[in-house]
Amino acid sequence: MRITFIDIDGVLNNAEYYKNKSLHSHHKETSHFDSNNVNALNRIVESTGAKIVISSAWKLLKTLDEIKNLFNDIGIKAEIIGATESLHYKDTFELAPRGLEILKWIRDHHKSLEGGLENYVIIDDEDDILDIQERHFFHIDDTIGLTDQNADAIIEFLNSYTIPKQELP
Ligand SMILES: [Mg+2]
Repeated sequence: MRITFIDIDGVLNNAEYYKNKSLHSHHKETSHFDSNNVNALNRIVESTGAKIVISSAWKLLKTLDEIKNLFNDIGIKAEIIGATESLHYKDTFELAPRGLEILKWIRDHHKSLEGGLENYVIIDDEDDILDIQERHFFHIDDTIGLTDQNADAIIEFLNSYTIPKQELP
C-alpha cells in the first residue's frame, strides 16, 4: 500500500487563494479548500492508488469522521485511513516534530497494511521532518499550495520506488 501523509493549511489552501476570497464566505468549512490544490491531490490518488493519512493540525479540531465527510463534500476522491497521533515533549509539552508523529504512525501500522507499506510521501508546507524521511518529503509553497507540478513529481516517486522491507521500523 502507498500512503500520502497530507497537511491541509498551505497545501490544500494557500495565501493567494485567501487573498482573492471574500471574507464572508470563510465560515463555510468547504471554503478552506482551493479546487486547484484539491484537483492536484485527486490526480495523485488516482494515479497511484495511495491512501491518505491526515498529518495536519486539523486532526486536533475535528474527528476523523468529520474530516472524512468534509473531504467527501469537497470532492477529494481519496480514502482516508487514519491520522497521525499528536506527540508532545514530556517536560515542556511542546509539540514534537511532525516527522516523529509520522514515524510513529508507520511503526504502529505498516505491518497491518494490505501488501505492507510499499512507499509513502509527506506533503507539507512546513519542514519539521526527520532526516530518514528526506526523500519522501515534498515541500509545498504555501503561497500557492499543492500544484500540478508537485503532483507530477509525487506520482513519479510513489510509482517508481518501493521501500526495502528491512528499512521499515
Ligand atoms: Mg501547513
